[in-house]
Amino acid sequence: MEYPGNLFVVAAPSGAGKSSLVKALLELDAKLDVSISHTSRAPRGQEQHGREYWFVGKDEFKAMAERGEFFEWAEVHGNLYGTSRAAIEARMTHGEDVVLEIDYQGALQIKQLFPYAVLIFILPPSWEELQQRLARRGDTDPEVIAHRMENARVEVAQARHFDFVVVNAVFDTAVFDLKSIVHAQRLKYAAQRRNRSAVFYALNLP
Ligand code: 5GP
Repeated sequence: MEYPGNLFVVAAPSGAGKSSLVKALLELDAKLDVSISHTSRAPRGQEQHGREYWFVGKDEFKAMAERGEFFEWAEVHGNLYGTSRAAIEARMTHGEDVVLEIDYQGALQIKQLFPYAVLIFILPPSWEELQQRLARRGDTDPEVIAHRMENARVEVAQARHFDFVVVNAVFDTAVFDLKSIVHAQRLKYAAQRRNRSAVFYALNLP
């Protein structure tokens, strides 16, 4: 499948700082938009329907999946999450760049569908630091933390399948790294040809 816009996929174990990094990236880059996923999990805290996620029941989610309404979907930590076609197709057909903030299973499915998708994995600087960040985030129950750390080991092992790796040791450096990846992707020949067609035409470039 091919659309004119760029597709960036960001994955990380929980606690690595993925959401904050993507949020900072979006604030710096008006041409990027994040896709809002569907999930069967219940909203947490201040989360709003249509802002963080589209919250749907498990049956509705499964019906959507059966109707082929997701580009990818996966079970993560016992809940279902999916990227709906409608969420990104419209933007990408108009040449806009989209970021998906999803888990590694979804990222690998997206790469199968869109080989030109850019897969970025965010790593914590160490296991100790990840554990401390999870604890600071308010997950004080040692069992919950231990479970997340177990999941993190499985998730981190998938980083080698990704195109880029960003180590989130210093937040601002990691944001800069993300921004550089997005910028470099936009400068690729194929992307430039799509977006600077008048220049390419004038220079007789194929
Ligand atoms: P949370 O419930 O903490 O918001 O998210 C749990 C995990 O599910 C995170 O790794 C998040 O990136 C991932 N996730 C969110 N949306 C999607 C999606 O549409 N597809 C997949 N495969 N994973 C998702």
